[in-house]
Amino acid sequence: MMSQGPALYIHVPFCVRKCYYCDFASQPYTSPMAEGYVSALEQEAEHYLTSWPQGQEVPSVYIGGGTPTVLTPQELERVLQVAAAFPRVAGAEWTVEANPGTLTKTKLALLKAAGVNRLSLGVQSFDDDLLVFLGRIHTASEAKTAWDQARRAGFDNLSLDLMYAIPGQSLKLWRQTLQEALALAPEHISTYSLMIEEGTEFARRALEPCPEELDLAQYREAQTRLEQAGLSQYEISNFARPGYACQHNLVYWHNEPYLGLGPAATSYLAGERRTNIRDTISYVDSLGQGCLPIAERELATPELAQAETVILALRLREGLSRPRFARQFGRDVYAVFPQAIDRLMALGLVTMDEFSLSLTAKGLLLANQVALEFLPNNFS
Ligand code: SF4
Repeated sequence: MMSQGPALYIHVPFCVRKCYYCDFASQPYTSPMAEGYVSALEQEAEHYLTSWPQGQEVPSVYIGGGTPTVLTPQELERVLQVAAAFPRVAGAEWTVEANPGTLTKTKLALLKAAGVNRLSLGVQSFDDDLLVFLGRIHTASEAKTAWDQARRAGFDNLSLDLMYAIPGQSLKLWRQTLQEALALAPEHISTYSLMIEEGTEFARRALEPCPEELDLAQYREAQTRLEQAGLSQYEISNFARPGYACQHNLVYWHNEPYLGLGPAATSYLAGERRTNIRDTISYVDSLGQGCLPIAERELATPELAQAETVILALRLREGLSRPRFARQFGRDVYAVFPQAIDRLMALGLVTMDEFSLSLTAKGLLLANQVALEFLPNNFS
């Protein structure tokens, strides 16, 4: 008898070099580090596989980073074998993140042969000056070539990441990037507003962020253009053609379990959130000593689990399913958060009917403030 287990995430902590805005757990690729990492990843996976419940299958796989495609074909193949060792639901979505500067025909063929059925390309912009400004390793034309190669390799579910609110990026430039992206007929687009994060090159340069009004105008432009092109907004930052919403990310937004392998990866298993050691050398050392590389563990209280479930689901346009919440926690969401919901409805930020609780168009722009209302210290 088959049962649905946690989704699987594998973190690859290497890139060609660091983009100027990036605070993800990634470092420049070196061959000895990559060898150590892949062997440690195999050991970590083995730990979970030896106690894997009979008949349990992962509903989706996501290999992200970093840049998984910076690995050599041999290293990439070993990482794919780690993922493939976990039993998967038939037809499960299997995504790999790829950077246009690192995707070759050989690697595309390897991904296809392993069963990967979705690629997410980090394109960010189709303006070469902005790509240089961001510290990206590829040009717009190289991104398009990578896209065409992926199509020719048989990938019919492609996503691309785009970035707006880049200092110096006018509304006109953003429109052009959206147009060029749409010309590629993607199944899915993720859009992110550039944040200047501590510890990045941009923070070191004390870069002025894009003005808030322009950030908002660019967000609205994306909503309008992408919706017109048939990619509907199903989450705050994500747009998809019908049937192409990212199944793996839906696991996160539904607050369902997932297993994360690799440095800095997070797992959510049996109500416990675990985060792996971020530093790759320490991650490798820990597994070398026979210890799981877990840096932090937090068992969610029922109050926290309820709050997180609401906050994550509110990111989705469909919002929180009230019947699903009631099945999960034995109580209706309004019985748990009556005052918060009344307050937010009075402000026009959320709307509720018998089946769902969701953000209004105004609430979508203020999702972070809405989330605060549900956190345990604001309990009604
Ligand atoms: S490619 Fe992605 S993960 Fe790597 S440095 Fe750039 S933004 Fe960060």
